[in-house]
Amino acid sequence: MNKKVITRVAPSPSGFFHIGTLRTALLNYLYARANDGKFILRIDDTDQKRGSEELIDYIYEQMSAFKLHHDETFKQSSRLPRYREVADLIGENHEDGSVFINMGDYNMTILRADGYPLYNFASTLDDYDYNITHIIRGVDHISNGPKQERIWKEINLALQDDKPFPELIHAGLLLDGKTKKKISKRDGSGLVSDYSDYSNEAILNWILKLGWSSKDPQFDKHYPTLTLEEMVYVFNSGNINPANTKVFIDKLEWLHKKHQKNERNNSN
Ligand code: GLU
Repeated sequence: MNKKVITRVAPSPSGFFHIGTLRTALLNYLYARANDGKFILRIDDTDQKRGSEELIDYIYEQMSAFKLHHDETFKQSSRLPRYREVADLIGENHEDGSVFINMGDYNMTILRADGYPLYNFASTLDDYDYNITHIIRGVDHISNGPKQERIWKEINLALQDDKPFPELIHAGLLLDGKTKKKISKRDGSGLVSDYSDYSNEAILNWILKLGWSSKDPQFDKHYPTLTLEEMVYVFNSGNINPANTKVFIDKLEWLHKKHQKNERNNSN
């Protein structure tokens, strides 16, 4: 029997909810639901300088506004003792108390002297402990894959286990349709709140097509809009697109009008 599918989305509360985060959340949610699996919401809040309770609450609000319900959720900040425990098993100490593992040609710090973990280590240990089987995220994470796989092997060795490393699936970058520049949360573009004039259903449809496409070239013609349930239903008959995608607001406007029309028809 195949192992139960478990996916996760892991937003950092470092800025207001971004369409890139919403896309990652939607794709991981759909993957889990389409395969009778489990979907976990993890909050990457160990970078204390940037995180804030208000931003964390906002993530929860947005996830539930878009009906991307999780089966389980946790904050990395609640797992500091676990990061310490495993870091001490797999790593070596620097003089200052930080912990590193030797990658061959360089030392990678996994735990800072103040006990806070670095992203690659915390993320890998979380995926390990929560038995994550599939990770869908942006191609900007491609270079983290081999580092995380290496850390995973160290954890398996230390804990005398043989858990399989999750399958990594990458979705292309989102580029502004006009400027062709990356839509980045660092420069404040692409916040979900910028699209508050549009319905959440239209936004989800728009976002889905920014990372997923059906194998049937006629699909969009026949099914211009989908409910979340319909997305779950069709998800496995399409692919996640690793190529960069241009984002056009006109498409969202069009979808929004389609949705309004559907609603009017349904209420007649
Ligand atoms: N907190 C990371 C981010 O927002 C998570 C990356 C990952 O999915 O591993 O990019």
